[in-house]
Amino acid sequence: MTWQFDIRTAMLLGSALTFLVGAMMLVASTTQPIAERGIMRWWVLGAISYSVGFALIGLRGWIWIGWSVVLGNGIVAVGLACFAIAMRRYFGMPEWRRRLLALVPAILATSVTFLFAVRDDSFRQGLILLQYAVVFAVCVQTLYRNDQPPSVGRHMVGVLFGTCMCLMLVHALLVLLWRDPIPNIFAVTPLTISVFVVGGLLPVLGTIAFLLMCTERNQRELETAARIDHLTGINNRGAIEAMATRMIATTLRHGEPMALMVVDIDHFKRINDELGHAAGDKALLATVQMLQQLVRTCDVLGRLGGEEFVLLMPDTDAVQARRAAERMRVEVERTPVTFFGTFRSLTVSIGVAEYRVEDGNFSRLLQRADRALYSAKHSGRNRVLVDLMAPDTLMAV
Ligand code: GH3
Ligand code: MG
Ligand code: MG
Repeated sequence: MTWQFDIRTAMLLGSALTFLVGAMMLVASTTQPIAERGIMRWWVLGAISYSVGFALIGLRGWIWIGWSVVLGNGIVAVGLACFAIAMRRYFGMPEWRRRLLALVPAILATSVTFLFAVRDDSFRQGLILLQYAVVFAVCVQTLYRNDQPPSVGRHMVGVLFGTCMCLMLVHALLVLLWRDPIPNIFAVTPLTISVFVVGGLLPVLGTIAFLLMCTERNQRELETAARIDHLTGINNRGAIEAMATRMIATTLRHGEPMALMVVDIDHFKRINDELGHAAGDKALLATVQMLQQLVRTCDVLGRLGGEEFVLLMPDTDAVQARRAAERMRVEVERTPVTFFGTFRSLTVSIGVAEYRVEDGNFSRLLQRADRALYSAKHSGRNRVLVDLMAPDTLMAV
């Protein structure tokens, strides 16, 4: 039994599959956040156009040559330009819509000129492949010239588009330099297989890889959102608990000290009551900014809830933590916050505790810092107190 590889069948199959994965992506895009939906729809437009254009090329010999060569390549060019626009949009780069879609008239002009005006197949094929290679190069550049974290999906798209760029470039140069056109695109040769079969499969695999890229980023954003306090942009309670547990494990392993402070804005409720909730939010943001200026890069700041913040300080003992807390208290006191044109000074009370082996876990350490904070509030607010573990041993500044 002999197996006959048929390029036309492969092309038409590739084109049908591209159309189907494009349609699948369109359905999948409806459940995506609005920004991702826009990106995915550019890709869908790319996949659908590419599949239609590629099918026209695959119908060569069965339909008028003008439809196959001119229209087919023109629509494939729309598809490739849309892929590039989708990628540029994904990475927040200028979309270059006009520049990329200029490929379409360029391809149409090349096809018409060298098919009807001056019949020169090698020039036509070479120039078309060269122009496709340029768009693939834009895609590869877009994928790798950005500061997004590495992702499997992006590398998959990169490998696929990079391979196509190289294939198109090599074949363009071969055809142009040797002036030896592909006489029959359906003849099974390494050249036709690498251009037409790879070209047919590219958008199928590319669409799956691009979908992976989008879902990977969504996943990363969800993970970040789960760790971040929405209002202030710093760590939320859950994230702080996880980080503190890791920090305590390191402290125990290396025998270094570790301290924690709880910062609470004094009479915060008055700001809300007198100036409104928006002013309260502003006070929270202003306080976070002030604290952030004074923390070291290894410290971890978070919001426990309401107007209460926590600072985890690795490699820090109670005395150092108390000094840092005092600097923060003074900074907040002497930095007035503007509320609708009026200035108002805030003050904070701070409870500090150094981790002791007897604490065991984070919640016990936090409890001790809270106890110090409670005492600071009761002894007049706007002060720092340190919990020294044993009852009634609070150290005032
Ligand atoms: P104390 O000096 O004893 O800490 O008094 P306080 O008024 O600062 O503390 P209290 O616990 O009585 O009030 C805290 C207020 O913070 C009550 C709550 O409505 C407000 N609050 C909690 N979360 C937010 C928020 O996200 N934004 C705003 N604007 N207010 C908040
Ligand atoms: Mg308060
Ligand atoms: Mg409070």
